[in-house]
Amino acid sequence: MSKTLELAKRLIAAPSVTPATGAVFDELEAMLIPLGFAVHRFRRGEGEEGSDEAPVENLFAIRMGPEGSSHFAFAGHLDVVPPGEGWASDPFEPTVRGELLHGRGAVDMKSAIAAMVTAVEDVPREAGTISFIITGDEEGPALHGTRALIDYMTAEGAIPDLCLVGEPTSFHRLGDMMKIGRRGSVNIWLTVEGTQGHVAYPHLADNPIPKLVAMLAELDALMLDTGTDWFQPSNLEITDIEVGNRAHNVIPAQAKARISIRFNDLHSGASLSERVVAIAEKHGGTALPIISGEPFLTEPGAFSALVAGAIEAETGSAPEQSTTGGTSDARFLRAVCPVIEFGLCNATMHKRDEAVAIPDLDALARIYARVAKGALALDMKQGA
Ligand SMILES: [Zn+2]
Repeated sequence: MSKTLELAKRLIAAPSVTPATGAVFDELEAMLIPLGFAVHRFRRGEGEEGSDEAPVENLFAIRMGPEGSSHFAFAGHLDVVPPGEGWASDPFEPTVRGELLHGRGAVDMKSAIAAMVTAVEDVPREAGTISFIITGDEEGPALHGTRALIDYMTAEGAIPDLCLVGEPTSFHRLGDMMKIGRRGSVNIWLTVEGTQGHVAYPHLADNPIPKLVAMLAELDALMLDTGTDWFQPSNLEITDIEVGNRAHNVIPAQAKARISIRFNDLHSGASLSERVVAIAEKHGGTALPIISGEPFLTEPGAFSALVAGAIEAETGSAPEQSTTGGTSDARFLRAVCPVIEFGLCNATMHKRDEAVAIPDLDALARIYARVAKGALALDMKQGA
């Protein structure tokens, strides 16, 4: 059995629905210690299970290279989304059927972490410093995950020069897509207050619905931008309208809606929030924005060329360098060093019967080994 397959099975067999703690981290720690890593684990969050403040575990592992050498980091998460119903086999019992390894986390992203571990075995200690930045809170609120890890690394003076996040970025086949950036995301709750009354006596009431409709029409008509060299145009979607008025003869007292904006690096969460607040207020309403991530872009250069080259060397073709898709922990890591994301095929992630093609496991480990060795050899002062 391939080493990566064996490690992936061990990680999948430790259930870790977000937020993850405990056994799955024990497994990873047991894999890293024999490779010479110093492993630090810590918990954050003191709330009830099921709340945003539920305890989360994080792991930072480092193997120091020679004095003054470069520092390359692998980043990822050991938590998984809930399995849901109807699996052909137990989602937490790794099961091989044909060429596929089934299990929750098989692609998102325990197998990628297994491939990182295998990859490191191939990188001599003299090549430089390598670390693992692994959270148990990526699929959840992400309040106490990678952000807490960055605080820890900052305090320890252990900020990497370059980082690769192992999210499943491939589309049809391993290596057809890598991510050099991601859009940002902000969700905004809109409310218009009115005065409840009888529909036959509208002069005694104040209907909030026409105001909300006018507000949404203006927001929906906004053209935020036309895209950039690397990003598609920013997009605003109306995701909910809620009045909840069951009476046919009552003007309601309140109308609410929600919008979600995915935006490129021409904007920030704050600049968009300000624009929406101004439009909401113009129509007599209020807006409450919650920014879930700022966009990031690692401009094409030495680092992206290195990752693309490693992929091409193992798969025979160069990947598309994309900025599409949802947010990931790269939204936090971008603040400390250049980040690129590359991992397995994402067709079954978050789905029933999540599965990875077994030949992809060893290929991914080989790609990761090339990336780690290449990144440690890059001269970061002029690289990236
Ligand atoms: Zn993931």
